[in-house]
Amino acid sequence: MRLRNKPWAKDKLDSHPEIVVRNPEQFKGKWHEVFGNKNPIHIEVGTGKGQFVSGMAELNADINYIGIELFESVIVTALDKALEKDVRNLRLLNENAMDLTKIFDRDEISRVYLNFSDPWPKIRHAKRRLTHSNFLDLYKEILIPEGEIHFKTDNQGLFEYSLQSFSEYGLLLTFVSLDLHKSEFGPNIMTEYEEKFSNKGQRIYRSEVRYLNK
Ligand code: SAM
Repeated sequence: MRLRNKPWAKDKLDSHPEIVVRNPEQFKGKWHEVFGNKNPIHIEVGTGKGQFVSGMAELNADINYIGIELFESVIVTALDKALEKDVRNLRLLNENAMDLTKIFDRDEISRVYLNFSDPWPKIRHAKRRLTHSNFLDLYKEILIPEGEIHFKTDNQGLFEYSLQSFSEYGLLLTFVSLDLHKSEFGPNIMTEYEEKFSNKGQRIYRSEVRYLNK
């Protein structure tokens, strides 16, 4: 993700508290109150410019979505998309995924989406990959027992690493596609990266996993 300096981004994020939730730790265990209903909550970790999470929110009004992104200069574009769609079931957090268990309580989340996560190809950076076992520990804590992780990427190396990481962790693989756009899976809401890479002819990998002993 190319980062552009956007000094105005913070003020813009602050001016939309109905979508961008600041100090989200205060809502740990109370996210249903934020949405005003008891619908399942799905999060996207590393939401980027928000095309996926806002598209999903528009498509599934009975599910609550939370997009989590590290950089304010990026999530500010996700805010624009959320404002365009004018959906009530979407919130955005400008936070680090490492803090997930400070933000969400045990069994508070029904699904985790990881889309085109940064591959961090160097071995010494493996712990930064969002499918590393350290992150799988965090997702396990916040997911309900039947909760799932849905993962898409164009990066074969990251996909292979992730399948191995899921398997070593004891996760159950319930769906896998080695060429999503040629499969019958759908509806598939595309992310910004997915559009970019598939337009270049790259294939998209996708998997779904869940924890066995939650
Ligand atoms: N999901 C989007 C897509 O498919 O178009 C963005 C993909 S981009 C390659 C990965 C995004 O994950 C970046 O915007 C990055 O800032 C974000 N990210 C990486 N590590 C993160 C972390 N620990 N917590 C929150 N966001 C993170």
